[in-house]
Amino acid sequence: MALRVGLALGSNLGNRLNNIKVARNMLRGIVDPESLYLQAPIYQSQPVDCASDDPDFYNTVIEIDYIGEPYDLLRMTQGVEFHMGREAVHAYNAPRVIDVDILYFGSGVIKEEILTIPHPRILERRFVLQPLNDIRPHLILPGDTVTISEHYEHLDSDEPPLTLVQSVW
Ligand code: ADP
Ligand code: MG
Repeated sequence: MALRVGLALGSNLGNRLNNIKVARNMLRGIVDPESLYLQAPIYQSQPVDCASDDPDFYNTVIEIDYIGEPYDLLRMTQGVEFHMGREAVHAYNAPRVIDVDILYFGSGVIKEEILTIPHPRILERRFVLQPLNDIRPHLILPGDTVTISEHYEHLDSDEPPLTLVQSVW
């Protein structure tokens, strides 16, 4: 049975817009083309917890219909990162061609270091919460009682506002 799966895409190295599109196309290639697919606008955000002269990130969130196990999907998303030239070993929060994070996997909950679902930092990061709110404002994450839109309204973060890069991409 297919589950709704949210993925965060980020890039702050090279042609960021193109990197996000290439990753999106690869991820769409693994799902049923007839299935419901959602994608948020692409935003530009200043790096969080990175060196101050690192380039800004392009970020977005997509939601796909996925049939399979969470760890299969993780292998797939890491395959996309690797294929796009992201080095397997890199400094903490170093600039990256592409970062693909699994935000949620249906109602699944996993608490392992190599895979934590829902992703532990969804609610504190504007660059995740805002695009997720664009596509799934009524979503309540597993283990939560409050919708994404309520979290977004009450987001208490010192990140500056995001800049819209492209709504349709
Ligand atoms: P980050 O995304 O936090 O900036 P990385 O992309 O380098 O950092 O990911 C580090 C590790 O996080 C990966 O090796 C992966 O196994 C692990 N990980 C844990 N939970 C998740 C998740 N929900 N989605 C993607 N990776 C995850
Ligand atoms: Mg990641």
